[in-house]
Amino acid sequence: MSLIDSHCHLDNADFNNDRDAVIERALEAGVEHMMAIGTGDGPPDLEAALRLAEKYPAFYATVGIHPHDAAKATPGDFQRFSELLAHRKVLAVGEIGLDYHYDFSPREVQKSAFIEQMGIAASAKKPIVIIRAEAWEDTLALIERHWTPHAIGGIMHCFSGGPEEAHRAIDLGFYLSFGGIVTFPKALAVQEAAKSTPRDRILIETDAPYLAPVPKRGKRNEPALMVHTARKLAELRGESYEELCNTTTENFRRLLLLN
Ligand SMILES: [Zn+2]
Repeated sequence: MSLIDSHCHLDNADFNNDRDAVIERALEAGVEHMMAIGTGDGPPDLEAALRLAEKYPAFYATVGIHPHDAAKATPGDFQRFSELLAHRKVLAVGEIGLDYHYDFSPREVQKSAFIEQMGIAASAKKPIVIIRAEAWEDTLALIERHWTPHAIGGIMHCFSGGPEEAHRAIDLGFYLSFGGIVTFPKALAVQEAAKSTPRDRILIETDAPYLAPVPKRGKRNEPALMVHTARKLAELRGESYEELCNTTTENFRRLLLLN
């Protein structure tokens, strides 16, 4: 029985005192691989996830400039970015997209950094990992125009919409990655989306250290806790735990390891 965490931030300082123990617990819980998200503190440091992937066999990595940090990125950073995509453990570009909740970078700058990174990802033929916060329509419009025609696919990280949004994202070539939110009692729309997601488009993640699932809600999240999310997803979909693990692992491999 194995699981793959499609999205975690184990470079986060919250893990500085016990990172090795956290990784050990993940492996013991059956989390065989984790995709470390490389946005870190933003450029010029683009290797936050790669450092983990180079140190630990269980990690894959992404490289990405988060919309929060879009205003910090220079042409040299984008150049370095595209070079890092050649690393054998860098599987995807992300997390990239638009964040209108915090608006840490001006919206026009967020959009241009997003478009530029989609271009780089397309040249490297790597899937993209999408973050969108209060920017669903704008994010989808940019994806439809700048990404879907390349037919490479991607991941809607921490999918938090309902069945209608799920359907639109799937139509644009995306896999939906469900995290701890799906275990929250009031997250009925997300639970409906999880029920109706086709078996070949579902992924699972923690977003650790954020968004721990019930019964650890509000605590620091870590990959070992993903078993709670997996159990909930299996229950919602009327599948066995084994089936849910197999499906999400196969999907991860198809999207990220076989292309
Ligand atoms: Zn994230």
